[in-house]
Amino acid sequence: KPLLEITDLAKDYGTGRRALDSVTFTVDTPQLVGIIGSSGAGKSTLIRCINRLVEPTSGSVRLMGTDIPSLSPGELRKMRRQIGMIFQEYNLVERLTVMQNVLTGRLGYVGFWTSLRYRYSAEDIRYAYALLERVGLAGFENRRADALSGGQRQRVGIARALMQRPKLLLLDEPTASLDPSTSRQIMQLAQGVIEEQKMPALINIHDVSLARAFCDRIIGMRDGELVFDGAPAELTHAR
Ligand code: ADP
Ligand code: ADP
Repeated sequence: KPLLEITDLAKDYGTGRRALDSVTFTVDTPQLVGIIGSSGAGKSTLIRCINRLVEPTSGSVRLMGTDIPSLSPGELRKMRRQIGMIFQEYNLVERLTVMQNVLTGRLGYVGFWTSLRYRYSAEDIRYAYALLERVGLAGFENRRADALSGGQRQRVGIARALMQRPKLLLLDEPTASLDPSTSRQIMQLAQGVIEEQKMPALINIHDVSLARAFCDRIIGMRDGELVFDGAPAELTHAR
């Protein structure tokens, strides 16, 4: 069965207009899937229904055969360990160092004190160093998160997500706060790591030219509906 199988997914926030309507697609091979569409098209809602940061109204989201909308809170917590998430605003713990932020990926999303008290294994620390080197931040381990540039923060965000050893990565507008050249570097990094780790990733991306340049597959959204699903080269007109 496919790694991710989304069937007839719908979300109604109660505003009368569906934010998502009968969205169906599957993701199996390790590919970077770009979700494009104008503001309000439902990109972020779609990404967030996968790990239930948004509760879908109906439809199914199967990850490795498990239906995510029907999981209990405890089961959902376990399932979320398999899904790495990268945010537009990085969501780092500002008072922690780069190394500490990456290590928190091992625990899931915990608070400041919990993350400080936890005793990480030597293997965790070794892996965190390796990930920091991979994302280009070797030597930054002891820098505090609040002393980093936007691009550096997003590199930490990527390393932290990989620290979970996820089966799937979700990137929610990861470059929207970055300048064009930093955005391209982050896209290149995302593309590289998912290829190395043989893991699919869904990236919600406003910038169609970035999506075309770096994604293996494009899903186009308009008014909550999936209106395109294909290779970047097949995308003749933007939206
Ligand atoms: P995109 O990510 O493509 O900009 P969103 O998924 O954020 O689109 O939004 C899709 C639609 O759902 C929009 O009409 C938006 O206003 C609406 N929406 C998003 N979040 C909420 C919310 N928390 N409450 C009510 N409506 C929402
Ligand atoms: P904000 O609105 O403050 O930017 P988000 O909506 O991006 O926050 O995310 C809400 C919170 O959900 C995050 O601060 C994070 O702690 C938690 N969270 C995000 N992704 C995951 C995940 N994959 N598993 C568990 N919790 C998560």
